[in-house]
Amino acid sequence: MSEEESPDIRPDTQLVSGGRRKEWTAGLVNPPVHHASTILFDSVADMRASIGQPHRLHYGRQGTPTTWALEEALTALEPGAAGTRLFPSGLAAIATALMAVVKPGDRLLVPDTVYAPTRAFCDDVLAGLSVETIYYDPCGDIDALLDPSVRAIFLESPGSLTMELQDVPGICARAKALGVVTLLDNTWATPLLFPAIGRGVDFAILACTKYICGHSDAMMGSVTAAPAAWNALQRATRAFGQCAAPDDAYLTLRGLRTLGVRLRRHEESGLKVAHWLADRPEVARVLHPALPDTPGHALWARDFKGASGLFSIVLKTSDDAARARFIDGLRHFGIGFSWGGYESLALPVDLDRIRTATRRADEGLIVRLHIGLEDPDDLIADLARGLARIAP
Ligand SMILES: *Cc1c(COP(=O)(O)O)cnc(C)c1O
Repeated sequence: MSEEESPDIRPDTQLVSGGRRKEWTAGLVNPPVHHASTILFDSVADMRASIGQPHRLHYGRQGTPTTWALEEALTALEPGAAGTRLFPSGLAAIATALMAVVKPGDRLLVPDTVYAPTRAFCDDVLAGLSVETIYYDPCGDIDALLDPSVRAIFLESPGSLTMELQDVPGICARAKALGVVTLLDNTWATPLLFPAIGRGVDFAILACTKYICGHSDAMMGSVTAAPAAWNALQRATRAFGQCAAPDDAYLTLRGLRTLGVRLRRHEESGLKVAHWLADRPEVARVLHPALPDTPGHALWARDFKGASGLFSIVLKTSDDAARARFIDGLRHFGIGFSWGGYESLALPVDLDRIRTATRRADEGLIVRLHIGLEDPDDLIADLARGLARIAP
């Protein structure tokens, strides 16, 4: 629970009110952007009294009302959470959360469908610290992997690029019984569609760069911790000198206020486009958590409050040039990394180099789509013209 708000406020109201303490906003609707490194104290005693005190100005790296407001607003979306820390990117949030947990000799379980830079961190950095990463099938049974050397389980549901759903509450309950720590990359759903702490996760991680910011103009990461994980998160964040830039915190907080309405529109348009694509002869499969073709779809129906706007399609063609013709000519879809902004995106997906624990037997090539806030009928018309370009 947040430090200030009562637990009976619904999420949409929480989005509007979170973090808006009068002492931080000084009566404005939004907290001002504080640019600060040095904080000046009235006296030696005043300086000493500021050390280690939450929400007391001490040094720029420890935050200002701009960053505290965003942290508090994010914590308020996760009933049961102890607090949130901010990071300069989603990947920095993931890396620091992992470093808060593992030590040499530990084993870490990571889903094969994990965001590729998370995998690179495990393989490049954790491996060098004698932390062994074991990649697991996100749809498989992990009981056989849970020996006493396993310190933590990383989860990402749905998985990057191919959208497999995981039994997050089930895995977290099993982990808790064994004293194993859980970390979830919750970027696709955000706490609005999947309140992770309440479902048993210890470290709930967001690339706020995506839907929370929502306008493709800032990088930001966050980790929200359950009470048992809060000290470790604070320690690691401090030790690594992690902090967020004030302008980016401001933009992210501004984006957060409209997350509810944006996500509902992303969901509605995404589903309309996904259902249309599922009926197209050029498309072999649509990998969207709300569509039954997606592995683990029943878990989405059980655990999630809705869908966001990111999904993938498997084309029937295996011709790379045909896929490029489809994507290159799209008028309303940009070609680019990241997602979660107001604009639609299309990206070719090539899995061969990324996965090691699972094997896919896809009919053809994959394209990931982010459905933005444009009129979905314009997007469908655009995609129809694109699919027509696939035939040679
Ligand atoms: C983009 C992304 C990240 C990383 O976020 P950045 O802010 O780009 O570092 C982490 N996880 C997932 C699932 C992502 O899509």
